[in-house]
Amino acid sequence: MLVPYDFFAPHRIVFGWGRRVEVGSLVKSLGSRAFIVNGSRTLEANGTIDELCRLMQSAGATTERLATQTREPEVADVDAAVEQLLSLGLRENDCVVAIGGGSAIDLAKAVTAMATNRHGDSVKDFLEGVGRGLKIERPPLPLLVMPTTAGTGTEATKNAVISSFDPPFKKSLRSDLMVPKVVLVDPELTVSLPRDITAHTGMDAITQLIESLISRRAKPIPRDLCWQGLKLALPAMFELSRDLTNRAAREAMSHAALLSGMALANSGLGFAHGVAASLGVHAKVPHGLACAVMLPSALQLNRDVAQADLAELGRRCCRWLHGEDGLLPFKDDGSDDAAVAHVQAVIGTLNGRLGVPPRLSAIGVTREQLPAIAKSSRGNSMDGNPRDVSDEELLATLEQLW
Ligand SMILES: [Zn+2]
Repeated sequence: MLVPYDFFAPHRIVFGWGRRVEVGSLVKSLGSRAFIVNGSRTLEANGTIDELCRLMQSAGATTERLATQTREPEVADVDAAVEQLLSLGLRENDCVVAIGGGSAIDLAKAVTAMATNRHGDSVKDFLEGVGRGLKIERPPLPLLVMPTTAGTGTEATKNAVISSFDPPFKKSLRSDLMVPKVVLVDPELTVSLPRDITAHTGMDAITQLIESLISRRAKPIPRDLCWQGLKLALPAMFELSRDLTNRAAREAMSHAALLSGMALANSGLGFAHGVAASLGVHAKVPHGLACAVMLPSALQLNRDVAQADLAELGRRCCRWLHGEDGLLPFKDDGSDDAAVAHVQAVIGTLNGRLGVPPRLSAIGVTREQLPAIAKSSRGNSMDGNPRDVSDEELLATLEQLW
């Protein structure tokens, strides 16, 4: 018997190496004036942003540079960008183009929604769990996103993650209306990513694929996307740990990240993402690194309740990673326990190859922060974890990992 389900996805996905040259006609399908939100200053310095703006202009669209976002967006960043956009006068046929990693895309998503939903004073009024509970009622400005990292999957989700440090929170602005209209994925844009960003974003995608797969809200279509994503992502991340310029691995990661976004938008996440948000707020740990460090604990906590899926993943890893140097071969004697242990070994080895520290103390977390981190790990992500984790167990897990 199949569970009833809804499935959300971007209206249009355009995927392929070098396809950023199509941005002009794609933007014109959304509007005649594009507000540009971009990330990384490298993209500005190496001329990529200018090149993309020229392509949009050649197609007949005007462009307005709205914001450069180089860290995870905060409430004040969203409010300021919305104010700037509105000060230019909102017109019919306006749209927004986001070019960057998760931070730039999340900022852009929030801006598109806040520009047309003016019944609050700040984006904070709309955030889950901390605001006034206001809802997004009017359709956001149409949004085209071009991810330049391969990890967060936010190009395909219906939420934007917004932080605050005083008071400390990291919460979502969420609405079914916020799924981007067009997602243009050109994996070539990820080739210049440095090693640490490649590692952290890639492990974020893998964590999302595993957590969505075993989420208590898992659904049939996203589960298939997770299997496809993991088949691509695990071998690709081993490859990228050796060679950052490998085209096939970059393509595989861009596709896997996109699939992870579609999966998590529909199925939710779990323990690692719950804690990762809290690590971001209390210890300013970048999202992907936090996920990478927490994934081994999430596997350990869920190994019994999600045994069938994790054992299947272990058996598939055996085939996908056949011949990978340094991975102990796993003899399938039918024991699910051994197959799950193989998944844990694969993730541990991969983290090691990518230089991800195994302990919280190595990523800037102090022991005194642990109770507060445990306390604010609750929320939409933790609710998706396939089993309940008590406050005591959560804190004990963090202490053990510290
Ligand atoms: Zn994530």
